[in-house]
Amino acid sequence: MSDPADVRPLANLPLDQLVACHECDLLMRKPVLSRDEKAQCPRCGYELYAHRHNVVERSLALVLAALLLYVPANFLPIMQLHLLGQSADDTVWSGVIGLYSTGMRGIAVVVFLCSMAIPLLKLLCQLAVLLSIRWNVGRNYGLLLYRIYHHLRDWGMLEVYFMGVLVAIVKLLDLAELSLGLGLLCFISLLLVQVWLEVVMSPHQIWVALSGEDLHAGD
Ligand SMILES: [Zn+2]
Repeated sequence: MSDPADVRPLANLPLDQLVACHECDLLMRKPVLSRDEKAQCPRCGYELYAHRHNVVERSLALVLAALLLYVPANFLPIMQLHLLGQSADDTVWSGVIGLYSTGMRGIAVVVFLCSMAIPLLKLLCQLAVLLSIRWNVGRNYGLLLYRIYHHLRDWGMLEVYFMGVLVAIVKLLDLAELSLGLGLLCFISLLLVQVWLEVVMSPHQIWVALSGEDLHAGD
């Protein structure tokens, strides 16, 4: 991918023409990618970055879909429990309230932050970043919000929450009659949309666009 005729040693190249592998720290010439190409590290095979087409538009569509799913995923019943003639609807929100009112306030706060507040903040940061690129306004705030997003990424734990729900369903199946709710479907869809968004919203292209370079160069 790099120009084979250019045999200058790496030390003589300007810094913006170099790239280091995140995994094995190999320093190399930054390959120039055309549309839908990926650059991989020649030593360890890690994907350095990709050049995807319509990154901003596709990511915006996915962020909006995730925000639409967020409300039913948290406020519609994940499952309905029928036990001894009584039935109860369980939503993510009612789980937080339940933990809080039974005295487990610390756990309630952690569950609220990791499964509701931080995933929402992450989506809002992504939305603001994408809109700032799309409308070409407030790039500096966009940069700040994208940095915040990268810090928040470590704290949103929808996957862990989902595993907890699955374990609870398996355990409760023996004890009570259980029916799965629409909330669970929305929750799984939200997880999948977020994974898809992580793939589409290529960080390299977003950083480049936020720092004012032309996102569509090479299209
Ligand atoms: Zn590598």
